[in-house]
Amino acid sequence: MNHLIFIFAAALALGFLPPAHADWAGLPASATGIKAADAPLPMPPAPQAVVNPNLICVDPGHPNTFNAATDMVNGTNENHINWQVSQRLERILKEKGFEVVMTKSAEMQYVENKDRALICNRAGAALAVHLHCESTPGSGFAIYYPDRIGTHDYKDDPDNGFKGPSKEVMQTSQDFGGMMSGAMRTQLAGVMPSRGLFGDSRTQVGSTQGALTFSIFSQIPTITIEMVVLTNKNDAAFIKSDAGQEKMAQAIAAGIQQYQPR
Ligand SMILES: [Zn+2]
Repeated sequence: MNHLIFIFAAALALGFLPPAHADWAGLPASATGIKAADAPLPMPPAPQAVVNPNLICVDPGHPNTFNAATDMVNGTNENHINWQVSQRLERILKEKGFEVVMTKSAEMQYVENKDRALICNRAGAALAVHLHCESTPGSGFAIYYPDRIGTHDYKDDPDNGFKGPSKEVMQTSQDFGGMMSGAMRTQLAGVMPSRGLFGDSRTQVGSTQGALTFSIFSQIPTITIEMVVLTNKNDAAFIKSDAGQEKMAQAIAAGIQQYQPR
């Protein structure tokens, strides 16, 4: 027998060698020889459930930590529109054979932004979509994905200072966002223009935290869809109509199905 193999086998038999997947996640980076930049992020506050590739998490956006979004805009309000389209999206996804977890069960139900991510994580969802409407100049839909590690900045919360998401979640979210952008462009061609695909560090909250709160806590691909510019009269007329809401929900479902075929 080769001496090296013999020594290795003897060491293994005597229990001298560490297991292949030694748990070094809790050690400081200096103790592992890993540079701080490469060190793993701390685990989110809830352990990840087993991911069900068939389960989609749909988040109707408001009322949330920052805003109820119930102010009237062009004869409707953002919270109402998000809820209407989310319910249609739930129905369409189920028709396609997906399972759906919603982050709330009534239009006026308040949910913290952090909890919107934790509900998706804990349910074992494969993907998360957060539905919103924009108040900005211009017209059309925009998609945001986490492009930077953010730091949760909410002093009343015990997880204040928590950092995330992981590099893997950033990459898969960007891939999902790109696919959603393409599907929505196709489905909404001639009806609702695309305003683009952006890193969520460009959003108001993202610019201070580095990422949106539900991106920081997400363990799965996560995107935010600003479906229309609600302050734009044409966009508002589209998304207030049954036909517009249905077309928007169908477009988002097509993007989900492209990323998560079934
Ligand atoms: Zn919103």
